[in-house]
Amino acid sequence: MEKRTIITVKDLVKQYGDFTAVKGISFEVYENEIFGLLGPNGAGKSTTLEIIETLRDKTSGQVMVDGMDLDKDPNGIKKIIGVQLQSSGYYPNLNLTELIDLFSGLYNQPVDPKELLQRFNLEDKATAKYKQLSGGQKQRFSIATTLINKPKIIFLDEPTTGLDPQARRNLWELIQLVRSQGTTVVITTHYMDEAEFLCDRCAIVDKGEIIAINSPDALIDNLVAGGFERQKEVKQANLEDVFLHMTGRALREE
Ligand code: ADP
Repeated sequence: MEKRTIITVKDLVKQYGDFTAVKGISFEVYENEIFGLLGPNGAGKSTTLEIIETLRDKTSGQVMVDGMDLDKDPNGIKKIIGVQLQSSGYYPNLNLTELIDLFSGLYNQPVDPKELLQRFNLEDKATAKYKQLSGGQKQRFSIATTLINKPKIIFLDEPTTGLDPQARRNLWELIQLVRSQGTTVVITTHYMDEAEFLCDRCAIVDKGEIIAINSPDALIDNLVAGGFERQKEVKQANLEDVFLHMTGRALREE
């Protein structure tokens, strides 16, 4: 099937004073894929994402999102994307239901808080405050809130950082679920197992440039074709297998 492009970034440059953080990168994201931006700290991932999210000005280049030009219609773009808030974005005195109602009002989108919380396995936390949630619950809630305006694309910035192995796997399933319901997902992560598991394609960014872009499978095959050989694994399991075998896969956050 022909893939439809939903994000096009062309020759994107971002300068902070004399420093060029993004050096003319170009890439496309296809509709309904999970697209990963990988790269060391300081590579320019957040800068790139925040420009696409209309939260930061670019120096030059072109960005199109679902047919809309960032220069001409940033408000149109805002309407069809979902962005995770930093934790400071959640009013401390409101509980989860009230927060969802608030966002629902802001976006002028009717949402049933109970149904949304249920989808993210948070129905027991309907009257809890954000700060009372475990790390995994916080991440689930912030992903849930990205969906309130029924976006075509959501942006997830390191959604599993700091989570235990069970919560991380649970979040992977949720991200796959969101995608299966038609949403395009753009994600950053420092966990390569996560990128390998989730991403249809990923871009590796280094020092403001894209140095590779492909499916995880193709990236690995290319490395191997170039003669790379990993030291043979002699064991049939790793420490994470031990951990999950002994502590189970069920979520453990309450
Ligand atoms: P990443 O998300 O890949 O870690 P960033 O986009 O946050 O990278 O940062 C890219 C580079 O730009 C870094 O060297 C960072 O220090 C610099 N940078 C980011 N934001 C600013 C800013 N507001 N002012 C000056 N330099 C910045």
